[in-house]
Amino acid sequence: MTRIYNFSAGPSILPEAVLLRAQEEMPDWRGTGMSVMEMSHRGKHFVAIAEQAEADLRELLAIPAEYKVLFLQGGATAQFSMVPMNLLGDKRSACYLDTGIWSGKAIEEASRYCEARIVASARPGGFTTVPPRGEWQFAPEAAYFHYTSNETINGVEFQDIPDSAGLPLVCDMSSNILSRPVDVSRFGLIYAGAQKNMGPAGITVVIVREDLIGKTLAGTPTMFDYKKHADNGSMLNTPPTYVWYLLGLVLDWLKQQGGVTGIEAYNVRKAQKLYAAIDASAYYSNPIDPAFRSRMNVPFRLADASLEKIFAAEAAGHGLVALEGHRSVGGLRASIYNAMPEAGVDALIAFMAEFERKHG
Ligand SMILES: *Cc1c(COP(=O)(O)O)cnc(C)c1O
Repeated sequence: MTRIYNFSAGPSILPEAVLLRAQEEMPDWRGTGMSVMEMSHRGKHFVAIAEQAEADLRELLAIPAEYKVLFLQGGATAQFSMVPMNLLGDKRSACYLDTGIWSGKAIEEASRYCEARIVASARPGGFTTVPPRGEWQFAPEAAYFHYTSNETINGVEFQDIPDSAGLPLVCDMSSNILSRPVDVSRFGLIYAGAQKNMGPAGITVVIVREDLIGKTLAGTPTMFDYKKHADNGSMLNTPPTYVWYLLGLVLDWLKQQGGVTGIEAYNVRKAQKLYAAIDASAYYSNPIDPAFRSRMNVPFRLADASLEKIFAAEAAGHGLVALEGHRSVGGLRASIYNAMPEAGVDALIAFMAEFERKHG
């Protein structure tokens, strides 16, 4: 087996230990004589797998009892519409912070259901920082305040939880959930697609305070109703059972890494090394305000941008793959989620030095 270092933003690298365990358990899950893929979602074996995954997630994030944990489909993108459909109630507006491409997509979708009020926008500066809190303009009559804790494409990450001026706080945590401890009680709702930091594509986690649900807009499809999912244990219909099981294996692996506190220390070390290498060289640059640099997604440019394609191709030849930036922004980007080994970051830094010697 030859494993490469996969710097893809998503679907992204998974812990090798998880893949090996899945392989071992694939044809015969714990003496049942069948694969998890073949089990009824209502049978006792799968129900136990699903309940264990929820219990582990609750433990890892210390989720308070008054929060529901839902396992849904449709990706984080479906949440861009499910959030307003379920949380607007009798309100006509919601507040959004505009910090990058993903928050922009959330705003665009919310605008189909309500007046999406932009509290502040980082667009004029090219999404390289978060506008200072003193400039944020909240609308007190709004139903909630939405922000994106880590802009996966732009590489901008909040280092703490923003104040929401008393509005229920809603967060798209798709690309940094479980990378650091977070006080869930500060939030009304957190959502995250699994394929960045929690598992393969196909499942989305929603953590929502119970009192916020049950006021769905008229005409909302059953599959878009949080309350209906909550009342049915996220099994309104057939869930993506195998992906749910793999998510559970990732959570189990994370517990063995010392949970979110343990992995945070590891993530800080990896990110600091990579930014230090970029900053130490005049050949590489990262445009993000240091106070908001992402620990998960590190975009960078070369002094000679015409060599970026060659950089990505040569890196791939060294087993360092998927370093191209998002098609909408170009440049290069290294995604270094929980599952990226420190050795992968070391190998990238060594390759960068070699490339600079050759082309710099
Ligand atoms: C990837 C991503 C999304 C979109 O996720 P899908 O599962 O493809 O719908 C939304 N928000 C953020 C922050 C992301 O990183």
